[in-house]
Amino acid sequence: MFEPHLPAPVESLNDERLDRAGVTLRLQRDDLIHSEIPGNKWRKLHLNLAAATEAGHSTLLTFGGAFSNHLRAVAAAGRIFGFATIGIVRGEEHLPLNPSLRYCADQGMTLAYLDRTTYRTKRDPAVEAELRRRWGEFFLIPEGGSNPLAVRGCLPIAAGLGGADVICCPVGTGGTLAGLAAGLAGHQRAIGFAVLKPGDFLTAEVEALQRATFGERSGHWRVESRYHFGGYAKSTPALAAFIEDFHTRHGLHLDRVYVAKMLAGVFDLVESGYFPPGTRLAAIITG
Ligand SMILES: *Cc1c(COP(=O)(O)O)cnc(C)c1O
Repeated sequence: MFEPHLPAPVESLNDERLDRAGVTLRLQRDDLIHSEIPGNKWRKLHLNLAAATEAGHSTLLTFGGAFSNHLRAVAAAGRIFGFATIGIVRGEEHLPLNPSLRYCADQGMTLAYLDRTTYRTKRDPAVEAELRRRWGEFFLIPEGGSNPLAVRGCLPIAAGLGGADVICCPVGTGGTLAGLAAGLAGHQRAIGFAVLKPGDFLTAEVEALQRATFGERSGHWRVESRYHFGGYAKSTPALAAFIEDFHTRHGLHLDRVYVAKMLAGVFDLVESGYFPPGTRLAAIITG
């Protein structure tokens, strides 16, 4: 239950769209790393959990929207590794809890709500001080879990993909791309597919995370912001059709918030001739 399954399996994808463009695509199944703390959430959390333990903390506090995979992962990690957890949810309480928040509560997470205006200012020291007054001692993990420890946890993502020229991942808060890109070999580059709209600010976010972690921008990477399909957790008929078609072709059901948008973007770039023939692509199935 505690042990991650590493290295993550890597699968070659047989697909005529790739053949026509003369490129190859391998999928790294980070979604199989841990049964309850999937994919990049395990990579982003494990050094945070070690740091919290080392500093003697017994409580984790973090933030997320009502459908946040990060909140779920922290709730599960708390139960598995013996931390109390507090989840600060954006917006008002809606009862009954949706399945995501129900899962969090079932893992033992205490849920509290922050109105949207205050939520936007949650990085202010005054807001944090108020949380500390209310909840006492805790180890704070930011929204989406993206801090320097998370970035370091993502450094090894591409370690088993030495044969790839371009490595793709989805981008929510940017910690995954920041770490992955910093761990690339010299001949490799990364493309992060923004899943929210507008996504261009994520370039600055990823760069800030790299500066906070390594003191400088690191690796050859960029954010592709054209494949948000309407915005965070939104969808379109085209995205739904892509997911259905991918399942039919490959038997893999893609996560619709992150992974499907990335792969729809990858295939669109492939079919538009963006990658020169011979390009060896890899994509991280983050969850
Ligand atoms: C949280 C999540 C992401 C986003 O990762 P960031 O480091 O926030 O960019 C990507 N994919 C999946 C499946 C996720 O759950």
